[in-house]
Amino acid sequence: MEYIEAKTILSGYAESNNWFGLNYNMNLYKGCCHGCIYCDSRSECYRIEEFDRVRAKKDALIILEGELAAKRKNGTIGVGAMSDTYNPFEKELEITRGALKLIDKYRYGVGLSTKSTLITRDIDVFKSISRHSPVLAMFTVTAADDALCKVIEPRASLTSDRFSALKEISSAGIFSGLLMMPILPFIEDNVENIISIVDMTYENGGKFIYPGFGVTLRQNQRAWYYYALDKNFPGLKQKYIEEYGNRYECSIKNYEQISKAFRERCDKYGIIYRMKDIIEYSRSGYNKEQISFF
Ligand code: SF4
Repeated sequence: MEYIEAKTILSGYAESNNWFGLNYNMNLYKGCCHGCIYCDSRSECYRIEEFDRVRAKKDALIILEGELAAKRKNGTIGVGAMSDTYNPFEKELEITRGALKLIDKYRYGVGLSTKSTLITRDIDVFKSISRHSPVLAMFTVTAADDALCKVIEPRASLTSDRFSALKEISSAGIFSGLLMMPILPFIEDNVENIISIVDMTYENGGKFIYPGFGVTLRQNQRAWYYYALDKNFPGLKQKYIEEYGNRYECSIKNYEQISKAFRERCDKYGIIYRMKDIIEYSRSGYNKEQISFF
């Protein structure tokens, strides 16, 4: 493992963030080796060289502990925005586990998204955090079918394994669910795929699904995505070019049909999908004012 210098681990503070109610963000690693064909984090604007090579931040836990102790306000910390924190190296390094223990010690909450089953290793720490603060354990799932998942997210855990992990986590009483995004136009935007994902979420105890019906494409990321399309879906690149040109937002064309099917299926099971409801649910049972002065 290569270690890189880091001055800070926690970034930003938002009193009320409309993205899962997260107040801070944290990346313990740089780069990600899961190889998702749609990965936004490899876009040029983030300036991450050799994105597929995972590097760990040097002295991450020492820096993080100093920051957690010094903050005047606690809150909920987002993990997993620019790199999946449960990469294969984490199994041995336990940097994420160490960070979660610190989050618990200093009584912060956590909202973590991953595509790895390694998250189940830390169920004990999530349970401990949830005794005092919100915990949102999220799996990103875009393809119900394992064979398609293997093409779209080649080195992440299989969809079926992610759902088994969801079952373990939800059975432990942790508030958990799905980020169902990005649903890729012409690949994953069919009712069967969406309905299957909702069904599996319900069967495995997920409480929420937050959807994203489309993909965003920027420089670098677009080139990587088109390269993957040429390799795995011959002819589809041309369809994207004709349909979206250089547009950043590439929404699915059958949005009305898909979102209706999604909402109806979620309503049937009582799965929540509006951000406001997810945030409210995650905070229920805790002090109304989760942000507090030390
Ligand atoms: S897991 Fe996330 S950060 Fe890693 S390659 Fe996939 S989309 Fe990118």
